[in-house]
Amino acid sequence: MGEKTGIGWTHHTFNPWMGCNKVSEECEFCYIGQNIRRQGKEPFKGPFATKDWNKPRNWNRKAERDGVRRRVFTCSLSDFFHRRADKLRPKVWEIIRECRSLDWLILTKRPELIADRLPPDWGGGYPNVWLGVTVGVTSSMSRVPLLKGIPAKVRFISAEPLLERLDFRPHLDGSVHWIITGCEQAKKGKRRLMDMDWVRDIHQQCQEAGVAHFFKQRYIDNKGRPVKDGLLDGVVRQEFPDVEQLA
Ligand code: SF4
Repeated sequence: MGEKTGIGWTHHTFNPWMGCNKVSEECEFCYIGQNIRRQGKEPFKGPFATKDWNKPRNWNRKAERDGVRRRVFTCSLSDFFHRRADKLRPKVWEIIRECRSLDWLILTKRPELIADRLPPDWGGGYPNVWLGVTVGVTSSMSRVPLLKGIPAKVRFISAEPLLERLDFRPHLDGSVHWIITGCEQAKKGKRRLMDMDWVRDIHQQCQEAGVAHFFKQRYIDNKGRPVKDGLLDGVVRQEFPDVEQLA
C-alpha cells in the first residue's frame, strides 16, 4: 500500500480499500491475504477503507512539479468495481478527476459492474484513466467484449497469471491498446507454471495488431522468485501504449 511498488508497469499503487472475494481461476492464489492479515483484518471480507486517501494528491503535486506523468495502479488489494465498495468509490472518482498528472490504471475481474459505476461526467472516458480486465484463462475471455463496450481512453488486458495458451486475435481490432503478460506468483509446488511459448504467441499477436506488450515476469527453471526483466528470447519486451497517439 506504500508509495513504492514492485510492479514494473506502475509508479505507485493506491489502495483506497482492501479485501475482496474470489471470482475466477486466476484468483486461486490471490496474494492479498498475507498483506491484509498483517493489518489485523480478514482479507476475504470487506472491503475495508484504508488511511491512504491523501497519497495520490502528494504524488500528483510531485508529478506536476517534475513535469512528468506517473502511473497509479488502483486497488492492488481488492477490486475497484467490487459491489461492496459502492459507497466509497465516488470519492475516489473525485480524487482521480482532480489528480490530472496521474494516469490511473484500473484493472478488474468484474467488468460487468463497470458501466453502472462510472461517474456521471465520464463521457468518452476520463483522459487519465486506463481500464483493464484480467484474462489468464480462456474461460475469462468474455471479459474482453465487456471492456470494449465501455468508453475509455486506454483499454488493456492483464494476462497474469497466464495459465494457458490464449488467443486474443478476435479482439485486437484497435480498441485494445495494451496487453500485460506474466507468470503466477505463488509458492513452489503450488504455482501453476507458465509456458514461455504462450508468451511468445501473445507477443506475436500484439505485433500483428500493433498492440503494446509488457512482459512482466517469469520463473527461471521454476526456481526462486519471478524475474522481472521482461526478457523474451533475449529482448526486453516491456512496452507501453502510445497515449499521445490515442489522444
Ligand atoms: S479479484 Fe483480485 S483481489 Fe479479488 S480475490 Fe481475485 S485476485 Fe484477489
